[in-house]
Amino acid sequence: MKLQDTVAIVTGASSGIGEAIARELSALGVRLVLTARREDRLAALAATLPSPSVTLAAAIEAPDTPATLLGLALESFGRVDILINNAGIFVAARIDTADLDELSQMTRVNFDAVVRGSYVLARHFKAQGHGAIINVSSVAAYISSSSVGVYSGLKHALEVFTSALRVELNGTGVRVGTVAPGTTETEIFDKLRARGAQVGADGTPALDPADIAAAVRFMLEQPDRANVARILVVSASES
Ligand code: NDP
Repeated sequence: MKLQDTVAIVTGASSGIGEAIARELSALGVRLVLTARREDRLAALAATLPSPSVTLAAAIEAPDTPATLLGLALESFGRVDILINNAGIFVAARIDTADLDELSQMTRVNFDAVVRGSYVLARHFKAQGHGAIINVSSVAAYISSSSVGVYSGLKHALEVFTSALRVELNGTGVRVGTVAPGTTETEIFDKLRARGAQVGADGTPALDPADIAAAVRFMLEQPDRANVARILVVSASES
């Protein structure tokens, strides 16, 4: 199937990497279902996209959000082919001083919501005999350091979960993979900077969200026989 004929759900589309993925796919003609909590940001994005799109302002961790997204896609476009699980938050905290409620929220958004979304869309994709699920992981899935133990753990879990899902869906026409960004300049670091943290080797992240969107596009543009299971995109200057 040509990408231009497809419909994609993009979570966390109101800023950063999700917004860049939406722009990249829309430029190819992909019709979009965009979701995040900030309705104004989604509406502003949708207004600038070249292909048709609809928006849903919702908390991704709400149990009914995946089914609502599926219903919206079918109602608006009559089909859905791609799920990009991108929504995520970054809570940096040492475990002995962490706010446990913040860590639980990160678990709900960065992992539980991906499992729920994958559950709903994998069933739909399997039944229709084709589809793609791409989960936005992180370079942090492979390394861990002080204050990022829970974030890294969740992204590692996401990698392992995604591999298992790919194996489970092999032969069904449904392709599954992860894209793992290195440090990318997005709003995710605003909270950290507000607390005085330095982000990136010299304080300035070197990747642009468009770099990650290009990797997603590459995964989706492969022929049906090829499943790009994982792409790690890191800064060329990051040590
Ligand atoms: P941003 O903060 O720019 O974007 C995060 C997106 O997630 C926003 O659209 C936000 O929308 C959405 N979101 C957050 N919480 C919720 C929620 N409870 N319900 C619905 N939507 C939610 O960060 P990035 O673009 O950097 O992050 C995107 C993904 O990339 C994340 O999974 C992150 O872990 C991953 N990543 C980022 C890296 C980086 O260096 N930037 C590196 C590695 C991975 P809203 O607030 O409107 O709800």
